Order: sequence, then C-alpha cells, then structure tokens
Amino acid sequence: MSTEREEIAVVGAGLAGCLLACFLARRGYPVALYERRPDPRTGKVERGRSINLALSERGLDALRRIGLDQQVMADALPMRGRMIHPVEGEPQFQSYSVSGDRAINSISRGALNNALLDAATALPGVRIAFDHRLVGLDPTTGEMTFETPQGKVTETASVVLGADGAGSAVRGQLLAYGAVTESLDFLDYGYKELTIPPIGGEFALDPGALHIWPRGTSMMIALPNPDRSFTCTLFWPTHGTQSFASLGSPAAIETYFATHYPDLVPLAPNLVDDYQHNPVGVLGTVRCTPWQVAGRVGLLGDAAHAIVPFYGQGANCAFEDVVELDRCLDECGDQWASALPLFQHRRQANAEAIARMALTNFVEMRDKVASPVFQTRKKIEHA
Ligand code: FAD
Repeated sequence: MSTEREEIAVVGAGLAGCLLACFLARRGYPVALYERRPDPRTGKVERGRSINLALSERGLDALRRIGLDQQVMADALPMRGRMIHPVEGEPQFQSYSVSGDRAINSISRGALNNALLDAATALPGVRIAFDHRLVGLDPTTGEMTFETPQGKVTETASVVLGADGAGSAVRGQLLAYGAVTESLDFLDYGYKELTIPPIGGEFALDPGALHIWPRGTSMMIALPNPDRSFTCTLFWPTHGTQSFASLGSPAAIETYFATHYPDLVPLAPNLVDDYQHNPVGVLGTVRCTPWQVAGRVGLLGDAAHAIVPFYGQGANCAFEDVVELDRCLDECGDQWASALPLFQHRRQANAEAIARMALTNFVEMRDKVASPVFQTRKKIEHA
C-alpha cells in the first residue's frame, strides 16, 4: 500500500462509511473512520430500529467489488414477490418478475454493518475511532472536533467525508458555515417494529416473500430473518384516530390488531410488549446542495439524500454512491477538487428520482396492491 497519500477522514461507520473506507483503502489512502457509537460488534443491539433491510442488485454490485457479496448473501433470504394479507381471506402472492426467479434479499442490517466493519478493519491503513461524535468542523481547514468519553479531541484531515446518516452532523456544520442549504420533508407517518418469532423452530410465514398488510391509509410489512423470525414494521400516521398514540392500553392494542390484522395476532405473542416499548421512528426526505464544499468536504449516503424506506433503496443507493465516487476519483486522477463536484453532478438527479419514487411507492404499498384493478393489471403484465 502506498503511504504517500494524505489521510482521509470518514465520519460515520454505518453502511456507507464502512464501505467507503474499504474503497479508499484499496486506492492506497490512509483512512480514519470516526463513529459516535461504541463498536457494535461488542455492544448490544438497539431495540426496534430497522433490524433488517432489502438488499438489491444495486447494493450487491458494490459488495461484489470488495469481495464481500458471497459472505453477505450466505445469510440472505431471497424474497421473490409480495404476499398481500387482506383483512379477510387467504394471502395472495404477487411475483416480482415474470420468470419468478428474480428476488430482493432480506438481510440483517447489523450483520451487514459488522461484515463491513470487519472488512475495513482488516485493510492496512484503516483506523476506526469509536465513541467519537463529531461536534465541530471547519470546512476551510479540515479541522474536526469530537466528543469522546475522555473529553473533546481535535483532528485534522485533508479531505473530510460525511457518511453520518440522515441527521448528519457534517451537513449541520456546513449549514452553520452557510456553505450548503437543506430541506427536510417529514411524513405525517412514523414506523414501529414488531416481531413474529419462529414456531417450532420454523418460519411462521413464507420466508420467500415480502409480506404486506395494506390498510388504505396505513400498512404493515414483514421481512424474514436468518433466525427464522420475521420483523414487522408498522407504517402508521403520527397523529389522529389511527395513530400509534391512539392505542393507549393493552386491551385497545389487542382489539385493534384483532380487527385490522387478524392473522398477525396468533403469530405475535409479544405484540403488546413490542407495541408499548418499541420506539416510533421518523420518516422523511433530506435534500441538500451542494454535496461538497471547497473540494475538501463531501457528503454521501443518507447524509446527502435520505429517502423514505418504501422502495427499500436507501442503503442500496448509499452503496451506489461509494462506487460512483470511486469511479470519479479514477477519472479525476484522485484530484478531490474535481472528483467531488463530478460525483454530485452524476448522483444528484438519481437521488432525487429515487426520493420521489419512494414516496409514490408508499401509496402503492399501503393501498393499490390490494385493489382488484392492480391485481388484474399484474396478471396481464405477466401473461
Ligand atoms: P446510516 O446507516 O444512518 O449510518 C450513519 C452512521 O453515522 C451511524 O453509524 C451513526 O451512528 C454515525 N453518526 C451519526 N452522527 C455521527 C456523528 N456526529 N459523529 C460520528 N458518527 C456519527 N434501505 C435499503 O436499501 N433497503 C431497505 O429495505 C431499507 N429499509 C429501511 C427501513 C427503515 C424503517 C428505515 C428507517 C430505513 C431503511 N432503509 C433501507 C434505508 C437505510 O437504512 C439507509 O439508507 C442507510 O442506512 C444509509 O446508510 P448511511 O451509512 O448513509 O447512514
């Protein structure tokens, strides 16, 4: 590995940050990866926070480039279509492809993050600083301030890349400098996770499908996990008579689910506990511009363009960002001042397109997939 290059700072050791560290280390850069949390490989998992996610070919392509696809896919559960659960009657399967063999893959977010952390750690030149929360950044000098258990520390890098998620502190610092503008569009919906455990060691539902309970203005989905459980996610309004807060007692929760999700009730013995104790997450779209400042501070992944999760493409899109940034560095001879603007030019329109498609797909998933017209159209498309 060349040690001629200057150290690059990546803020956020989530999905995009770890992958980026791997790509940069392969280019010969020393990389400092800063993460506000403790090492997730030694700590406990946060309750009720997006346990699994759908990985598609876009994300797999990025993993393939660093030789991690087979390891990640070993535990993946391919979902070849949607299983629609009506209030009454049998579930209906809708294949994602005419041939029936194309799938998106349910994978554990934690296992994916840990695999990426292991891959980054194994590369020479990558150092990871956990318990480092970025609280200050001077984009003109690359000086960063972190809060750590030992107090505040200051570090400097020639290039600082913000992969610190939807609430990005790097983006916040650039905003404070007047270097970027942002818009945050929150939905009047939140999400909460529930669990369907295995029955007798087996999956309680078909693990080859993404399960959807469309209920007009709201919905629930469920994805399979390698331990043969399912993680369900409720997407419900945050205000009004059908909101999370409207079910204030165990009896109200049981009655509501028995009425609107009757086939879930016998499969979810911890329904009331999950409902009462798992947090409600927010859902929104983040837009900002520019994605880079002075050719030395850049944003990518959710930090640049967080989207609502209804297309299952946020992480896939963040992985595509890393591949594109790597390509831009190739084309610009590793001149960051050229590569970062080129990266934004190539990716921003795509990020905007998937942001809009994700919002549109919410209406399709919670409402249209259950309509007879939609099902007839699907049959015609597949004929
Ligand atoms: P994150 O994964 O958010 O990582 C950011 C990292 O930065 C974290 O480790 C965080 O601790 C760290 N950090 C934050 N602030 C600081 C700081 N100040 N200093 C240092 N470190 C910091 N995407 C899909 O592709 N498929 C799906 O099926 C899917 N399902 C989803 C379901 C739900 C309910 C939600 C909410 C999202 C879903 N997504 C899905 C989207 C996906 O989770 C995100 O797009 C993806 O995690 C973005 O990766 P990232 O690395 O940019 O950000």
